[in-house]
Amino acid sequence: MQDTQAHGPPKTDHVHDAVPLETAFDFLNTYELEDDAYVDRLTSLDVAASWLVDHGVVGHRRWIVGAHDGRGALDRITTTRSALWEIAHAVAHEEPPPKAAIDEVNRALGARERLELVPADDGVRLGHSHVGDAVDDALARIAEPVVRALGTGHDDRIRICANDTCQWLFYDESRTGQRRWCNMATCGNRAKARRHRERLKAAEPVQPD
Ligand SMILES: [Zn+2]
Repeated sequence: MQDTQAHGPPKTDHVHDAVPLETAFDFLNTYELEDDAYVDRLTSLDVAASWLVDHGVVGHRRWIVGAHDGRGALDRITTTRSALWEIAHAVAHEEPPPKAAIDEVNRALGARERLELVPADDGVRLGHSHVGDAVDDALARIAEPVVRALGTGHDDRIRICANDTCQWLFYDESRTGQRRWCNMATCGNRAKARRHRERLKAAEPVQPD
């Protein structure tokens, strides 16, 4: 087995794929309506870490869970999400967003990794170094596609789903720009899943397992 760490410069040339805009909006929608009340799906740092791994934002749960005091990390995650959520909502309603939300998002963006050149035997490669920890890094990378969508003249494409029981934030990437529902499949499936849960609850006494 080769030990690549033993020789040469520290490995800073691992690649972070850009977070797709759709994933970033999925992140915002972890704060969502259920039965007329908003609920936070990121109920613990464990849940948040799993979400970030499942959506390809970070490589390993331990990057998020392991190295940090749990409360501080979860606070940072939900605070940045709330700020992005508030701004997207304000924009969808054509209203000015709260200054505090803008400040928070700009703070999160500041933790974005720095590009740097990494020397290689045959020349150089593009690498990067991290400004903050893995949590800051994940939040900066999630914030980036959202602020690009907001700040580059496409903010009229940021919508709130017309389904009253859904109201997910989404970005309308359709050619005509007339989309009113977040996603027919997801929107419908979530309603279906909810009805299924309610049926199970109603049938609980006779339901095996
Ligand atoms: Zn919807």
